[in-house]
Amino acid sequence: MKKVKVLQWGFGAMGSGMAKLMLSKESVELLGAVDTRSEYIDKDPGEILGTCKTNTKIYASFEDAKKNIKTKPDVVILATDSFTKNVVDNIKKICNEKINVITIAEEMSFPWAAEPKLADEINKCALENNVSVLGTGINPGFVLDALVIMMTGVCHDIEYIEASRINDLSPFGPTVMKTQGVGTTPEEFKKGIKTGDIVGHVGFPESIGMIAKSLGIELDEIKEEREPIISNVYRETKFVKVDKGMVAGCRHIGYGIKDGKTIIKMIHPQQVLPHLEKIDTGDYINIKGNPPVNLAIKPEIPGGIGTMAMAVNMLHLVKEANPGLKTMADLPIPRMIN
Ligand code: NAD
Repeated sequence: MKKVKVLQWGFGAMGSGMAKLMLSKESVELLGAVDTRSEYIDKDPGEILGTCKTNTKIYASFEDAKKNIKTKPDVVILATDSFTKNVVDNIKKICNEKINVITIAEEMSFPWAAEPKLADEINKCALENNVSVLGTGINPGFVLDALVIMMTGVCHDIEYIEASRINDLSPFGPTVMKTQGVGTTPEEFKKGIKTGDIVGHVGFPESIGMIAKSLGIELDEIKEEREPIISNVYRETKFVKVDKGMVAGCRHIGYGIKDGKTIIKMIHPQQVLPHLEKIDTGDYINIKGNPPVNLAIKPEIPGGIGTMAMAVNMLHLVKEANPGLKTMADLPIPRMIN
């Protein structure tokens, strides 16, 4: 397989993990990375990753990387942010250099849901430059959308789809604890939802929108509900302490509604240490149709490892894709690459 040449933009928890994964792949050449963190700038990524020297560098900006890297990347992986409005300019910048883009920004998995205008702008820019742009990740990007869509392929007809991802948030740091409301009182949680400081999962309109579009269903409405998961026991991780009666996570539910009926339902209770209350983690897809399809993955696919894999495993497929803004439903099925 011809090597795909990659620049990693964003060297945080996900981006650095992707870089490490790419360094282990025969069919991938890492050309360097971009991150604004001062402690990373001008360092060899291998130094931070604890791997061997890579003879590449972490640059302070895309412009710096472009100036200093002699080889043109085939793909830039962008792992800096969750929201389309915050990554659109950088995506266009990359496209204008005639380089393909993979991003793990949650909203970019199906940007027509939250930002239809920006999605059209990105598509136009990608087409003009003859490159492709893909949003992917574990969720959104795979478990609650691409995998669901694939499972519908064995059905003659479908009445109702329910998918849930029950996961453990304990490996995640302070930002995730804050946005999920972990460690707050039920009153603080309620307030946080109102002010937008607590958001729960980013991705239901995207996952539900992608499924509906793929199945040719025109939904009337997508609704979301977020409620606190109140702990019945003391829970403690490296980053947070949760007393009995406090919030251990956010139960986030999404509904895709047509003619007053929910036809797609997504359930995503995310909390720290669910096993302390005998809750098993897992990914579940239940399709009411002909035939009924019931898929259970226990325990859940780990979010971090899965996200890194999805971005890296899509590299060749994005490089070979027809130009334009793509979703995981548009490209060949993902597969592990060597
Ligand atoms: P992180 O905070 O650990 O890393 C982000 C990195 O990007 C940081 O090192 C930061 O310095 C750098 N950065 C931010 N803006 C930059 C810019 N303009 N130029 C250069 N560097 C910049 O976050 P993470 O855990 O690596 O996740 C990255 C994003 O991906 C988050 O928004 C997260 O929500 C999202 N994500 C999506 C999925 C999915 O399934 N789709 C899964 C995991 C994470």
